[in-house]
Amino acid sequence: MPAQRVPFTTRIYTGYLLMGLITLALGIIAFIGLGTLNKQFNNQSDISSNLKHATKLGFYSAEMQNQAETFLRVGQIQAANSVESGYRSALYELSTLSSLNSQTSEPIIKRVDKHLHTFIDAFKTAKTQRARREQIVKTTLPGITNSWGALIEEYQKETISAGSLAISNNIWRDLLIIEKHMGQYFESLNPDQLKLVDMNYQHVMGLVEDLYFLESYPPQITRLDIIRDSLARGYSTFNEGVQTTRNYLFLINVVMAAESYEIKYLSEKLTQEFRQALDSTQNQSSSMVSSLSQQLIALSILFILMTIVISMIVGRSIKMPITKLREIFNRLSNGERNVHIPTYHSKDEIAALAISAEAFREANENTQILLDKYQELSAQLDEKVKQRTKELEKANRRLKDLSVKDGLTQIYNRRFLDASLVENFNRARRSALPLSVIILDIDFFKAYNDTYGHQAGDTCIQRVTQAMSHVFHRSTDTVARYGGEEFVALLFDTPAPAAHALAEKLRKEIESKNIPHRASPLGYVTVSIGCCTWTPDTEFMSGEEILNQADKALYQSKDRGRNQLSVCSKELPSE
Ligand code: GH3
Ligand code: MG
Ligand code: MG
Repeated sequence: MPAQRVPFTTRIYTGYLLMGLITLALGIIAFIGLGTLNKQFNNQSDISSNLKHATKLGFYSAEMQNQAETFLRVGQIQAANSVESGYRSALYELSTLSSLNSQTSEPIIKRVDKHLHTFIDAFKTAKTQRARREQIVKTTLPGITNSWGALIEEYQKETISAGSLAISNNIWRDLLIIEKHMGQYFESLNPDQLKLVDMNYQHVMGLVEDLYFLESYPPQITRLDIIRDSLARGYSTFNEGVQTTRNYLFLINVVMAAESYEIKYLSEKLTQEFRQALDSTQNQSSSMVSSLSQQLIALSILFILMTIVISMIVGRSIKMPITKLREIFNRLSNGERNVHIPTYHSKDEIAALAISAEAFREANENTQILLDKYQELSAQLDEKVKQRTKELEKANRRLKDLSVKDGLTQIYNRRFLDASLVENFNRARRSALPLSVIILDIDFFKAYNDTYGHQAGDTCIQRVTQAMSHVFHRSTDTVARYGGEEFVALLFDTPAPAAHALAEKLRKEIESKNIPHRASPLGYVTVSIGCCTWTPDTEFMSGEEILNQADKALYQSKDRGRNQLSVCSKELPSE
């Protein structure tokens, strides 16, 4: 028997504790895994937000460029406002992105910030230059060109030569052409118009020089100076306007376009990076979920296996000693002796149970020994009681025999005969069956006694009764000693002829015994017999009456010479 060192309760509690610890481990792993997953999802959400901001950044930069171009070409204030609000929105998206603290995208964000600033600076410069150009084209330059007609006219008033007049007319016409090409240039920005302006200007200046050759009058020379200055100023103002236009067109088409392109490119790069990061985070999340679920499944299987193993170990450690004890108790209950309950060198409940059981077994064994002794004595007593009962029954039977039987002949006595006679008569009457009564007396018996002695007389009596018992052997026949050497036979269900035949058979049997009787005239023992039969047709009223009638018949036999049978006179004649 294995020694169990730990009590059952402790073993069961330990089992539960182990299972609880495994469950706790399962919970902790699930908690950590879910926490990590949550972090991962938060990260994913951050990246997703970054992606949104980066996309918006790209959108705002494109919008800024479009609105800037619209403004600089058409001059809508609304477009300029849109550029500035786009810039602010882009700055906001950028600041949101940088607050997200994404290390990989930090250099790109800085670059975008720089480009945004450059873009807005360029826009502001272009805006200023556009305003300047507007001033030149719409105010300064028309102011100058408009004065040209009056100057030419003033000059022509003092002109006296036809040549000068013709040249001044050509100048006037060419100035109108120059003015027209200037206007066309600012409208179409076509470089051909510039060439035409240039060419006509050079031509006009040549014509003015021609006028100088023809003029000698100082006031006219002064007027020519004024015209030449005005032309030079106009031309220079026009060139300033051209330059300003070129500058802001450069700013729009080169600087701002490059900046916005750079911003757009960087935004797309950011978007791409965030998208990749999002993809990788999503992949990580999904692999984390699958790994977590695998771990949880593996741990759950481990948990189930350990639960089974722990249950089996604990259950087995409880079941085994109980099974052993049960076997021992079964052997004890089957009556097996010399079976001892083993002693456990442990402290568990089974050890305590085994000690109690052993004490119980010892007490039971002592009781059993007492019980065995008691059973032995009881058996002996039973045997004695049986023996005594037998003896008593035997004595009772003897007593009964003594009360109903005759001591000498062992046939029924007179008392039994009297009772049997009443009983037989009643039965015969009830059943309407015949009842025959035979009475017999030994002839000259007094003389026999006198001759052979009383003892020989007893022997003779015994031989006669033996013959009677031999002849009347039916279970319904009753043979009794009536008194002295007189005997009676009651034959139930025996009609007269049968009774007569039997009586005759008896007489002959006794005769044939040839018992010597010197004192008898025949020389041997004989008997005289009287017989009387009751049938439903006879008028006998009792058994006693039938017996009396038989007795009378007996006396008839005596009277007729003995050794014969006589039947009663009241008997119906036989067939
Ligand atoms: P009978 O032929 O007329 O009958 O003549 P008997 O001598 O037999 O006359 P009775 O019947 O009167 O005599 C009966 C005698 O039988 C009387 C007695 O001595 C004798 N006796 C009666 N009982 C016993 C007995 O138990 N034993 C012996 N040995 N003799 C008995
Ligand atoms: Mg007699
Ligand atoms: Mg007699």
